[in-house]
Amino acid sequence: MRCTPEQLDLNHPLYALFNRDMLIRFTDKGLYVEAAGVYIDPWKPVAKALITHGHSDHARWGHSQYISVQSSVSILKHRLGDIIVTGKKYGETFKINGVEFSFHPAGHIIGSAQIRVAHKGEVWVVSGDYKVENDGISEAFEPVACQHFITESTFGLPVFKWKPQEHVYADMLEWWQRNAADNRSSIISAYSLGKAQRILKGLSSSCPGPVYAHGAIFTIHEILRNEGWDLPEILPMPLGSVVPDIQKALVLAPPGAIGSSWQKRLKDPVSAAASGWMGVRGTRRRSAVDRGFVLSDHADWDGLNQAIEATGATSVYVTHGYTDIFSKWLNEKGYDAHIVKTEYGTDQEELLNAEADTLSSADIDDASNSGEAISPSEKDIIL
Ligand SMILES: [Zn+2]
Ligand SMILES: [Zn+2]
Repeated sequence: MRCTPEQLDLNHPLYALFNRDMLIRFTDKGLYVEAAGVYIDPWKPVAKALITHGHSDHARWGHSQYISVQSSVSILKHRLGDIIVTGKKYGETFKINGVEFSFHPAGHIIGSAQIRVAHKGEVWVVSGDYKVENDGISEAFEPVACQHFITESTFGLPVFKWKPQEHVYADMLEWWQRNAADNRSSIISAYSLGKAQRILKGLSSSCPGPVYAHGAIFTIHEILRNEGWDLPEILPMPLGSVVPDIQKALVLAPPGAIGSSWQKRLKDPVSAAASGWMGVRGTRRRSAVDRGFVLSDHADWDGLNQAIEATGATSVYVTHGYTDIFSKWLNEKGYDAHIVKTEYGTDQEELLNAEADTLSSADIDDASNSGEAISPSEKDIIL
């Protein structure tokens, strides 16, 4: 059945009719699997919540019971405190009121999962946030066959095409080496869950100096290392005024620490940020950093399209990001695509989106992006 208004309006009288027979319903608390009585990534407190990953817009406080993939349990406990949480293995199927559920890798961050829901021959996949490039640290994205696929579209514009990550790590290393040779500290703003681990993994083979981390990043790093994740040893930023080898160091800090008094112990620092938004000139300027590295934990345009195609789904629901353009594109490709209004997209890398919402191809800095020309057909859909 096709819903005529492009955006699903929860208050529209026809919505209840459309929504009634769906295995997953879009409600004002979140994605609701009524037959099982559970919600997926709900944004209001519920009795039982299945959680795709530990970012705060998907894993919220206040549910009576949580179910997540095992590798996300310690992250959820660290972020949400003393919660009741059950961990499941990837691929393990379990039933709630006869509805079958399983978690599958989403490749977004450590412990991120897509959730497959199957009942009476109907199969849905809730992908949460995802990327298709294997970063060697998050469990690699796995396409899961379904009829209905729920997707993000954080970078759902054709201008977003990521360079292979090895190129970005090589640029980052060269930048750090040059700063170290000039006796200047290098500081990179990176989100504490996701980007920080990825950068460390990418740079760990050859470091020109020590790596220090802000407390928020160091704490998560140690939790993950204690769980057995293969992450390099790093140092917490010392409390005193003397920091050994600070003029050669790479310092990882959350975005808020850049330019604040926190960085006064650094030696003549050079700053950078690592995000998919760093290909957009305005974002780099607003972030007040000297250098931007285009590195994202979300799928780019091709990644989103590939992922959707690989599921074999005919219905696609777009939850956050460039929902209008991306769902329009999908409809033109023959999918039954809808925009679903959710409260996702307010955390970590996604947040900068709010400031970049008037993007056009002219805003994309080819020098730091792929450098590839945008084909006429792609230009057509940049509205
Ligand atoms: Zn996320
Ligand atoms: Zn998200």
